[in-house]
Amino acid sequence: MSDQSTVVADDKVVIFHYTLTDEEGDVLDTSDGQEPMAYLHGAGNIVPGLESQMTGKKVGDAFKAEVAPEDGYGEVQGPGPQPVDRSAFPEGAEIHEGMMFAAQMPDGTQMPLWVVEISGDTIMVDNNHPLAGEKLFFDVKIEGIRDANADELEHGHPHGIDGTHSH
Ligand code: ZN
Repeated sequence: MSDQSTVVADDKVVIFHYTLTDEEGDVLDTSDGQEPMAYLHGAGNIVPGLESQMTGKKVGDAFKAEVAPEDGYGEVQGPGPQPVDRSAFPEGAEIHEGMMFAAQMPDGTQMPLWVVEISGDTIMVDNNHPLAGEKLFFDVKIEGIRDANADELEHGHPHGIDGTHSH
């Protein structure tokens, strides 16, 4: 369990509450009223610009982190939304706007794509995260820091707040 001398460092599971707002101050996402979020530090579970500003923080620390697009969800790039026929998706797949799926590339790598619009059998997909190009403003409070267990280190992500969540 965490004590007050523990700081956020690689291979620690960090539990935190956050509110994410955009440049206009509109709330995009928040853990308010829900379980705090857990991530494995140093494993790229959260956007790099937030992860780097977590380093060295202690339980109880509250801070604001401003993250530029290149350290967040990236700059907007590529050709923009592209049409894909519904038949390209697995039969019976639930498709809705905003969902992310991994497309298998010819070279075997996976590329994340986001559904931006559905019109009949034509699904418009974009390679940009919905928050690409946005400056992000995080309000963070560190709720807990603990050592990651062996399974978590192997998987590269935490297994829930206490490390016992199986999947
Ligand atoms: Zn796992």
